Amino acid sequence: MVNEKNAYRAHCLVLAYPTQGHINPMLQFSKRLEHKGVRVTLVTTYSISKTIHKEATSIALETISDGYDDGGIEQAESIQAYLERFWRVGSQTLSQLLEKLSSSGCPVDCIVYDAFLPWALDVAKKFGLVGAVFFTQSCAVDNILFHVYKGVLKLPLSEPEILLPGLPPLQPQDTPSFICDFGSYPAFFDMVVQQFSNIDKADWVLCNTFYELEQEVVDWMAKIWPLRTIGPTIPSMFLDRRLKDDNVYGFSIFKPSTDACMTWLNDRTKGSVVYVSFGSMAALEVEQMQELAWGLRMSNRYFLWVVRKSEEAKLPENFVEETSEKGLVVRWCPQLEVLTHEAVGCFVTHCGWNSTLEALSFGVPMVAVPQWTDQSTNAKYIMDVWKMGLKAPVDEKGLVRREAAKHYIREIMEGERGKEIKKNALKWRKLAKEAVDDGGSSDMNIEEFVAKLVHS
Ligand code: UDP
Repeated sequence: MVNEKNAYRAHCLVLAYPTQGHINPMLQFSKRLEHKGVRVTLVTTYSISKTIHKEATSIALETISDGYDDGGIEQAESIQAYLERFWRVGSQTLSQLLEKLSSSGCPVDCIVYDAFLPWALDVAKKFGLVGAVFFTQSCAVDNILFHVYKGVLKLPLSEPEILLPGLPPLQPQDTPSFICDFGSYPAFFDMVVQQFSNIDKADWVLCNTFYELEQEVVDWMAKIWPLRTIGPTIPSMFLDRRLKDDNVYGFSIFKPSTDACMTWLNDRTKGSVVYVSFGSMAALEVEQMQELAWGLRMSNRYFLWVVRKSEEAKLPENFVEETSEKGLVVRWCPQLEVLTHEAVGCFVTHCGWNSTLEALSFGVPMVAVPQWTDQSTNAKYIMDVWKMGLKAPVDEKGLVRREAAKHYIREIMEGERGKEIKKNALKWRKLAKEAVDDGGSSDMNIEEFVAKLVHS
């Protein structure tokens, strides 16, 4: 019996960086481990845990301190100050948590830590534990950042074309924003590059992707590290359906307007709705928000648009009232249920990695409107490698104009290119499900990880 204390095969502590896009995949990986008989304690910061809406989940949650217990990064003087203090206070409080778990009879065998928090490996090694780094971004993005870390890719970029092993030729604008817009967020730049500072000491390198999706780059990186793909980390009931009750992520930083969204979608016909979301963090320029609002209006399609509270003031005046016949604007939605609703025919997305994996796994064609960090690289792959969507062109100010938004939405919904994309969509949906299903590439990798943990 898995729920008896001593019957667990091993105990993993899973440490997530405190944002929605990092907690979701690590929580889902935790559920997969638990399903295979491993005890899991998910750990995040005290400050973010206070804002989390918990839905049903069996995973135990513990917290450590980032040194800003009353507000997290929002409370810090700067991003750099936040990350430095998190490093120091996080290491101490993580050590204390390990001691507490040990003295309460639940010693930890392995720390699975977010690649953004490389100091957790030092803590794991101090306690003699197995250390597994977990990358929440695509392997393509990780590979680009690794080449920056090695000094092979020199910054600022000077060549018109970037050629790296395992990757298609890239233009500067296809690289992560911290690279092509070098100097834009120096503290985040340091963080994503320092992910590789001690990776050679990690016992495992786990990546939230699946082999079939990123075969070439995975093959290349797996020659350097003990790399295993374990994704897509999407609740099982949307994929292989082997983990009963696993139908939501479970920890939500914003409260979703579930009833409003689902009731509204239920009244729409198949494939008639454009779903628009920029994830949990991106802040759009006011002008970009207005252009999109106009583009949606001009497309004359139904739309469900997630506009977080902090973004609401950027909407054109009276937009919500004036478009209420065609659109629904909410502050947060249950994205998995929305993307799998048959009414949704197109996803206008910032191409955050989780949203990208979700759309690929459910076969929803995308209009890519990347904003920052890894999103441009994901957009490049969506359009040119996986052929699952179109990247909306930007003008000289970097903005997607209303005409382009309208055109690309229509192209996906009823154009020739849309038909081709919908065909590919079926292929990716099948491959994503197979990867996590019994005997699939990710399932076998998780099985191997657990088996070695048990015998170490
Ligand atoms: N999400 C959600 N409701 C929303 C918008 C997003 O549940 O209204 C979820 C989405 O399913 C995804 C995560 O939030 O799992 C966003 O992660 P992503 O990597 O796409 O973007 P980020 O928020 O990190 O920029």
